[in-house]
Order: sequence, then C-alpha cells, then structure tokens
Amino acid sequence: MRPRYLTNLNLQDFFETACEIPYQKIDSELFPNIELWIRRDDLLDPLISGNKAYKLIYNLIEVREQGADTLVTCGGAWSNHIHATAAAGARFGFKTVGIIRGERPRVLSPTLSDAERFGMTLRFVSRADYRERHSSGFMNRLGLDGPGIKYVPEGGANQRGAEGVKQLGTILEKTSPIEFDECWLACGTGLTLGALAGALNSSGIRLVGVSVLKDGGSIERDARYWQGRCADVERQVSVVSEAHCGGYAKFPDYLAAFQRNFERGTGVPLDPVYTAKMAYALHREDLAGSLSGRRILMLHTGGLQGCRKSIKK
Ligand SMILES: *Cc1c(COP(=O)(O)O)cnc(C)c1O
Repeated sequence: MRPRYLTNLNLQDFFETACEIPYQKIDSELFPNIELWIRRDDLLDPLISGNKAYKLIYNLIEVREQGADTLVTCGGAWSNHIHATAAAGARFGFKTVGIIRGERPRVLSPTLSDAERFGMTLRFVSRADYRERHSSGFMNRLGLDGPGIKYVPEGGANQRGAEGVKQLGTILEKTSPIEFDECWLACGTGLTLGALAGALNSSGIRLVGVSVLKDGGSIERDARYWQGRCADVERQVSVVSEAHCGGYAKFPDYLAAFQRNFERGTGVPLDPVYTAKMAYALHREDLAGSLSGRRILMLHTGGLQGCRKSIKK
C-alpha cells in the first residue's frame, strides 16, 4: 500500500486525507481468537505520519495564523516528533529548531541527521537543562522567545495536539468498516489515548493503551488529564503496563522474532519502539484467551522512520 502525501497545510485537505486512510483486515495465526483490523495512519504521508501528524496539524496551522516563522520543539535522538516537525517545516516553509537532550554526538542518529537535512537547527542542551523544559523561563534562557517563535512541547503534547487527536476520534467513528469492541494503541505520554477517549464518548468502544515505558502509572495519569480536557464524561480506558519488554526502546530477541513473523504474515511494517510492542501485547492477550470473539482495531500510529535505529538489546 502506498502512502498519501500532504501537499498543502490546511485542515480540510488534512482531514480529507485522513478519511481515506485504509483499514486492513488481519488474518494471521498470531491472533487466532479475535477479528482483527488495523488502521494504517503510517500511510498518511511518507514523513509526516502516524499520531504525530494529528498532534502537529493544529500547531502548524497556528504557526501560520500567528504569522510566526519558526517552530521550536524538544525531543530525544530517536524522536518521531522531531522527525515529523522537521519534515513539516521543510514542506510548508517555516524554520524549525529542535532542542535535543544531551551532548551532540560525533555521529548523529538517522533521525537527527534527517532532521538537520530537512533544515532543522539542532540545539543540544545538557540533561540538567533539558529537565527544565516545562518551566516558564526555558525558552528565554535559550534565547528562543521572540515574537516569530512558537513553542510546541515534546511529543506535540499540548492542547492543540489533543484537538488534532480528537479529530482522529471523529474520523474513526465515521470511517470504521465494522463496529469494534476495542481499539488498541501504543502509548508514550498517553495524550493520544486520553484525547481519543475524550472524543469517542458516544460509542461503546473500549480503549486499550499499551505502555512502551516501564512506568505505566504516569501514562494512566496523563491520559486521564487529556481525557478531561477533551470531554465532560468519564470513560474507562485501560493501560496494559507489563508489555514494555524491558523498558523504553528495549528490543529483546523475542520481540524481534514476533515483529518478523507479524510483518511476514500480514505485510504490515511495524516500528520496534511502539507498534511492535502494541501488537505483541495484543497477541499475548489473545493467546491467553480473554478476548475470544471480540472485534478489535489496532491503530498504526506510525514511527517507521525509527526502524533504522541501532536499538539496544
Ligand atoms: C509518539 C508515538 C506514540 C505515543 O503517543 P503518545 O500520545 O505520546 O502516547 C505511539 N506510537 C508512535 C509510533 C509514536 O511515534
């Protein structure tokens, strides 16, 4: 399947493209007891894809509406958000600055070397300084608080980001090929899970987030926060917190073997940090027998640029 391509920066084009994203039925012996589909948001665009595109869209529009010419954001050396932001700046004609945790390494990660190639200015800051990124004087201390500058927090985790994900919820309700019992997705900050939960209030679908971090508790807390900012009604979301396979960006052999099997059997590429762990968690839950007969949707949240990563075992 070929990716779509976001040509213009406008909401209507973006959401029209998002409405064309295919849902693919997965027939695989890895999931013997459920009816499984995957929504392919990795195919939104070759570079600005997955949930990061939804978190960015309103932020990008705001840069333009405010007459700003520079978007500043933060991330680590393998950040899908940094990569997508740099690509969006190049595509839509504004400058981008990426504040990166740690010293500049002699050899940049593929993510950061792409970002630089797309025109992003990389500012490396010490880990101690990076920890201050949520404090009010942070941009000022870096000399980055002029009128032409818009700041977007790490991962696109702000109100604008949540609004974009809410739109994804509306699109899910409009375009789902069948009525699903559950929707599974990978979680880092929990914003996508929370904002979707806020958006899907009217339908009976249960949302299940798979934590890719050891500390799943913070995800539940943050998801609840973003859910509260997107809806008035409480909705139950659950977080699978023991499928992180050793922690963030850890990629043990059994997970690599599962990812290969999945990709060979379905033709759907996964990324090692997020979507492989989500699919693996669902596989295990299916084998455990607790999901028998359920109709389940997985969200492909993108991140495929991270496949080039020389990951830690
Ligand atoms: C960032 C990311 C996530 C996690 O999204 P959150 O809103 O931070 O929970 C999931 N999947 C992929 C591929 C991502 O890049």
